[in-house]
Amino acid sequence: LKTQFIALASHEFKTPLSAIITSTELIIKYADLNRIDKRNEHFLKVKSKIIFLNNMIDNLLTLENIESGNIIPSYSKFKFSNLVSDIINNTSPFLKKNQEIIFSNNIDDFIYQDAKIVKIILTNLLFNAIKYSKQDIHIKIDTDHTCIYFSIEDKGIGIPKIAQKLIFQRFFRAKNAIYFPGTGIGLNIVKGYLEKLNGSIAFKSTENIGTVFNVSLPKLDIEE
Ligand code: ADP
Repeated sequence: LKTQFIALASHEFKTPLSAIITSTELIIKYADLNRIDKRNEHFLKVKSKIIFLNNMIDNLLTLENIESGNIIPSYSKFKFSNLVSDIINNTSPFLKKNQEIIFSNNIDDFIYQDAKIVKIILTNLLFNAIKYSKQDIHIKIDTDHTCIYFSIEDKGIGIPKIAQKLIFQRFFRAKNAIYFPGTGIGLNIVKGYLEKLNGSIAFKSTENIGTVFNVSLPKLDIEE
C-alpha cells in the first residue's frame, strides 16, 4: 500500500517542492530589488504549497492509521462554524481567479466531535471542489436535534455516471479528473473517517455541471 502511494505521490510532492524552491529564490532576489509586493506574492505561494503538502502528509498518515485500525477518536467541544471558517481561510490561497467560497452558516452552537478528523474530512472535500471547478463554491452548515450537516457544492467538471459507484475506492480517479493533480485517496479517507465517527456522506453530480457532497455527523452528548 505504501509503495503504491509513494509511487503516486512522489510526483505530487515534487511539483510543489520545486515551486517552493523557485519562490524562495525569487524572495531573495526581490528583497535585493526592494520589491515588497513581489516578495509577498511569493511568500503566499510558499505558504499555499506548504498547506498542500501538509494535507497530503496528513492523508498518508491517515491511510496508515485507517489500515491498521488505529483510529481512536479524540472528542472535544468546539464551535463548528469556527472550524469551517479556519478551513476556508487555509484553503483560500488555492482559489482561482474570480473563484470565491460562499459560506452560509446556520449553526452558532458548540459541538462535541473529533475536531482533527472533522477538519481532515472537510479539507479534502474543499480541496476537491476548488481543484475540479473554476466558479464559486457554496458551503452550508446546518443542524437538527441529532446531526450536524455540511454541504459543499461546486460548478465544476462533475463525476461521470459510470465513475459514480467507484469514487470512494482507494486510488480511483475518474477519466475527466486525470488532467488535474491528485492521488485518488482523499475520498477513501473521508469515507473511512466518517465510518469511524458514525457519520455519512452522499453526493449528487452531473458531468460538466457540478457536484454537491453532503456530510452528516452525529451530535454527541458531552459525556460520551
Ligand atoms: P483525487 O482528487 O486526488 O483524485 P479523491 O479521492 O479526492 O482523489 O477523489 C476521487 C475522484 O473523485 C477524483 O479523482 C475525481 O474523479 C472525483 N471527484 C472527487 N471530488 C470531485 C469534485 N468535486 N468534482 C469532480 N470530481 C470529483
